[in-house]
Amino acid sequence: MIWYPYQQMKTMKQPYKIIDAEGVWLQTPERKMIDSVSSWWSVIHGYKHPVLNEAVKSQVDNFSHVMLGGLTHEPVQKLSDKLQDFLPGDLNYSFFSDSGSVAVEVALKMALQYYVNRGEMERIKVLSLTHAYHGDTFKTMEVGDDEDYHFILEAYGEKKDVIHVPTEIPALEEAFEKYHRELNCFIVEPLLQGAGGMRMYDISFLARARQLCDQYGVLLIFDEVATGFGRTGNRFVADLVQPDILVLGKALTGGYIGHAVTVANQKVYEGFYGDDPEKALMHGPTFMGNALACSVALKSIELFEQEDYMSKIQRIEEITRREMEGFADSRIREVRIMGGCVCVEVKDSGILKGFQQFAYERGVFSRPFLNCMYAMVPYIISEEELVKVLDTMKAWFL
Ligand SMILES: *Cc1c(COP(=O)(O)O)cnc(C)c1O
Repeated sequence: MIWYPYQQMKTMKQPYKIIDAEGVWLQTPERKMIDSVSSWWSVIHGYKHPVLNEAVKSQVDNFSHVMLGGLTHEPVQKLSDKLQDFLPGDLNYSFFSDSGSVAVEVALKMALQYYVNRGEMERIKVLSLTHAYHGDTFKTMEVGDDEDYHFILEAYGEKKDVIHVPTEIPALEEAFEKYHRELNCFIVEPLLQGAGGMRMYDISFLARARQLCDQYGVLLIFDEVATGFGRTGNRFVADLVQPDILVLGKALTGGYIGHAVTVANQKVYEGFYGDDPEKALMHGPTFMGNALACSVALKSIELFEQEDYMSKIQRIEEITRREMEGFADSRIREVRIMGGCVCVEVKDSGILKGFQQFAYERGVFSRPFLNCMYAMVPYIISEEELVKVLDTMKAWFL
């Protein structure tokens, strides 16, 4: 018996069964539908991409997996070289893991140990955003601010070591002034807070965060598990403001195989580097650097560059703005668009009840959450397909 995610199993609606998938299309036994969710924002090249399929197939004939403890291999070496070239500045040191949550755990562990290695034992607190989402494991839930996890607060009482701030500069300045001696890091989903409700904010907030982190010696972590690889209309938000630690996941492998990476800059890496074994980073997921995942991730990044995905994302944004222009309804609070993400926030989540089935019957897979109806489509989507997705969203309000 399968225990499905985020569901009350007793009242859950039967999930749609997928028997095939190609391009932006998912095939059920009854119909084809466009995946407007990109399988939780990961399948940026669409399904059954010939280049990515070939990358997996050719690697599987060599070996699928060997551990990175005491062993290494060409796919992981090539991917880390590629990331070093592809990522901005001195974000050069790639620690691989099997999921975004684990990669965030690694980032938080790195930030804490960085200061412990320097003997700064009072820096045990983390600053994060209100409405933050950083994953489902325990520490990521703690730095997150998702109402679904407030049972953790009920069980454990107040959060002692995490401080939340809204995306407003005065509140940020105040938090730094008050807590800077105890902070090891400030972790953010830059520009776009995904699972917290597709909240978008301005780059000036992150530029100020960078200044404050430098002023007070606090590490800045960008969780770009969702925003990385173009989703905000920037390759990475880290291209605009550089963090000390960058976390990538979801689209890293084009959605083929679960994998993620925590990338440290020179300063963080040097905080661990030396002769003392106690200063080493003590982490090592069994499947880190999986050869199939690394092979497909490398090809995914090559495709992203060679086929100029940034212009594809720009086109998606242009079409979305054109199609959503002037669209309004008394039940809608706001329509927000950023890069390859569009969110229609409604005033009451009840308004979206039944939308998933409505969309399914029109050939679109959608998965609204909280007050958000949204689309984060695969970047290879055609104009006609994208218009179909947006028309379906608008049709719900007619
Ligand atoms: C999805 C997500 C994660 C968690 O990634 P998993 O692979 O599901 O563990 C972490 N941070 C952000 C911003 C995410 O969107």
